[in-house]
Amino acid sequence: MTADGPHSHDYHVMAQQPHAERIRWLPPQRLEDRAREVRTTCRCRAIVYTLVSGGGQMHIRREDHDGQLETYRMPTRAAEELWDRLLLGKAV
Ligand SMILES: [Zn+2]
Repeated sequence: MTADGPHSHDYHVMAQQPHAERIRWLPPQRLEDRAREVRTTCRCRAIVYTLVSGGGQMHIRREDHDGQLETYRMPTRAAEELWDRLLLGKAV
């Protein structure tokens, strides 16, 4: 996660799995003075997800043409695991 800019990988979310975990999406919380985008999915898709770090925690942001939503703040490991499940279509 050192030299990787937010656009250095084209992450694409896979098709949703039949029993995918439902992520609780909240309105933007704006809790961090300085949030850093760690990973982001490719903008060729209608929904763009971003893994965001700040204040010693992480969350995932979901953006489409209607606006932004985001998850609760969680520890780094939990957020990275959720990010992986999201990319695999196991969490939506
Ligand atoms: Zn793409």
